[in-house]
Amino acid sequence: MSALPFRIGFGEDAHRLEAGRPLVLGGVPVPHAELGAVAHSDGDAVLHAVADALLSGLALGDIGQYFPDTAAEWAGMDSRVIVARALELVAARGYVPGNVAVVVTLDRPKLGPLRAEIARSVAGLLNLPESEVGVSFKTSEGLAPAHVQTRVTALLVRAPGTGEG
Ligand SMILES: [Zn+2]
Repeated sequence: MSALPFRIGFGEDAHRLEAGRPLVLGGVPVPHAELGAVAHSDGDAVLHAVADALLSGLALGDIGQYFPDTAAEWAGMDSRVIVARALELVAARGYVPGNVAVVVTLDRPKLGPLRAEIARSVAGLLNLPESEVGVSFKTSEGLAPAHVQTRVTALLVRAPGTGEG
């Protein structure tokens, strides 16, 4: 077990966007998205980065090790399963998420109206109050119009009742 009472994790994800596919971010389907994520799973770039942030905080590798994108069983899978698995791995080490910050870079559509819903969704998956999930939106300023990019930091806190190393 880590000697540290807090651990910081960082995750990043990106997907190419294409017409005729759904766009899901943080477990929330984005309405009126002309382009959706090209992916083996449901392509939820927010949840993939959240899961990687959880894993990286405890040096547990990345989601590609647990959910290889070559495995037929994970095709089209709901990424909430990936976050749940990462949370289990973190909990098994005696930590729980404290707060997370999510940055989404997407040109269209504007995501502002979905901020609260995405925060609520991510918070629910992490057993956190909505106030512990920050969600920021950026655009690529036209540099990557068919692309979604996410970055997530997560503070992991040693769970109460978990003894010293
Ligand atoms: Zn992804």
